[in-house]
Amino acid sequence: MKSENIAAISTPAGRGGVTVIRLSGDSPLAVAEQMFLPRGNTRVKDFQPYRMYPGEIVAEHFKDFGLCVYFKAPHSFTGEDVVEFHCHGGTSIARGILSRALSIGCRGAERGEFTKRAFLNGKLSLSSAEGLIDMINGESEAEVRAGYMLYGETLKNEADGLQAEITDILAGIDADMDFPEEDIEHTDLSDIAVRLKKLSAKLSSLTASYGTGRKIKQGVRVVIAGRPNTGKSSLLNALLQAEKAIVSSVPGTTRDAVEGTLEIEGVRFNLYDTAGIRESENEIENIGIARARALIDGADLILFVLDGSEKMSEEDAEIYRQVADKPKIVVSNKNDLQGEGGEKCDIRVSAKTGENIAALRAMMLEKSMAGYDTDAAFLIEKRHYDALACALAEINEAVSLCGNVPLDLLGVHLKAAWDKLGEISGKTATEEIINEIFSKFCVGK
Ligand code: GDP
Repeated sequence: MKSENIAAISTPAGRGGVTVIRLSGDSPLAVAEQMFLPRGNTRVKDFQPYRMYPGEIVAEHFKDFGLCVYFKAPHSFTGEDVVEFHCHGGTSIARGILSRALSIGCRGAERGEFTKRAFLNGKLSLSSAEGLIDMINGESEAEVRAGYMLYGETLKNEADGLQAEITDILAGIDADMDFPEEDIEHTDLSDIAVRLKKLSAKLSSLTASYGTGRKIKQGVRVVIAGRPNTGKSSLLNALLQAEKAIVSSVPGTTRDAVEGTLEIEGVRFNLYDTAGIRESENEIENIGIARARALIDGADLILFVLDGSEKMSEEDAEIYRQVADKPKIVVSNKNDLQGEGGEKCDIRVSAKTGENIAALRAMMLEKSMAGYDTDAAFLIEKRHYDALACALAEINEAVSLCGNVPLDLLGVHLKAAWDKLGEISGKTATEEIINEIFSKFCVGK
């Protein structure tokens, strides 16, 4: 199949040490021949693959000293012939070189087009491509690790294994239905039931891992609640100490804005302040209360702050009732002051002296990510969760029907589950899904 040459700047815009311009298609080497003058005697068309050649990169109105490397199909990122120019990292240098490539036989690559070609050429699965975006966009180490797992086809292999099992069960059912009169070994329903239950258990544990995966991808939402003056802002600052430089891209209104972001063992935690939840007749206050309520509802973890130097008041109790059913840590602050409060707390800290702040961080990780294993694979994409949840529903339907309906009806649910599993790797994904995924990439990837 013919594949047009495409070209793009593959490194981020701006000044830097090196910029990479990537070409992929049927004949990028022919393009390179017209715009690269190798030092020494080797001609471009005789370039050995995977070797860096120094020379001059010729743009329309200037030249740069740089490197050229040729990746030979199918052993390249896209599976096609690929050429990369490594030039000096300047915006005008990169633009000039790209524009020369575009004028002699390349067209500009669309967002994610290199990766899309890699997918279409079977170099990686759809879920692997998504893992790659997760790694690139990852704002925490945990997200990069989870993206890397996905990129390495862990999830695709799981889904493939489940599909193979379904295929096997379906084959048994089909044989049974095709030759009902024959003296073949007929399908053992209890065996099918056992196998379906195993499939269901596996899918359940996979979908359950989205609870952890979602927090890895979006950050754990921590809401700090408590009455005024218990030291919530001070505690926030104490937790964020040494993390002030981290800028979060999590969107929110001014009022609900993330107050700060910190990483604990590589996991991102987004901290929100409720700005005091109080009953009030005042309308503006009420809006604040509604927002605080929404914040609490959406929280993965509440830090309920008490002033440890005082007895718990009715106001504390009232706020406590609002967070009672959420996962929470009751923090008794101001432990540096001698006081009589904090009798029912989970931890005593002092925002002022820093006492127990490290222990609080460890407790936050433990409480929100119980059993978190840095080497385990998690579902981090909602798309994967949705597909697996649908597959699980179909299998569960088959489990409940097994033995009560004709076999071909079971087959319908098994086939539906198989199709849903295929969406993970992309085998059964629609073009719409595929296009949407690659449109999330940047140009040049
Ligand atoms: P918020 O209204 O809950 O946000 O409370 P602030 O963080 O503004 O703190 C209220 C007051 O308590 C301030 O005067 C703080 O300096 C003081 N404070 C906060 N944390 C501590 C602490 O751990 N020890 C002591 N002694 N004072 C604290």
